[in-house]
Amino acid sequence: MTYVIAQPCVDVMDRACVEECPVDCIYEGGRSLYIHPDECVDCGACEPVCPVEAIFYEDDVPDEWEPYLNDNAEFFTEVLPGRDAPLGSPGGAAKLGPTGSDAPLVASLPPQETDT
Ligand code: SF4
Ligand code: SF4
Repeated sequence: MTYVIAQPCVDVMDRACVEECPVDCIYEGGRSLYIHPDECVDCGACEPVCPVEAIFYEDDVPDEWEPYLNDNAEFFTEVLPGRDAPLGSPGGAAKLGPTGSDAPLVASLPPQETDT
């Protein structure tokens, strides 16, 4: 199981969640952050600190954001624009740093209105 980051993070990316994650499994894309589904230990520490309520336990993702379950997973399994191989399971978001790449659904979105 895993926690998932949905659409409200897109173009916000304030990284509050990254500070809370004990296993460093929240990776930075170009327009959103992504939780590695195999590395997340379901501790829930990230969810309450998100200022835009973008993070959900996978069973609690609202219907409208259900596609983000797959999109988060694809961030780690697909070859994304600007990369020549999947990210795989690099085991450490801080070491990898910002990737500048996004999963297909996030990449397809128009610029998001942000209040923060
Ligand atoms: S639930 Fe815990 S382990 Fe999973 S991404 Fe959030 S802080 Fe990290
Ligand atoms: S705290 Fe929320 S808005 Fe900020 S980077 Fe994490 S998921 Fe995105």
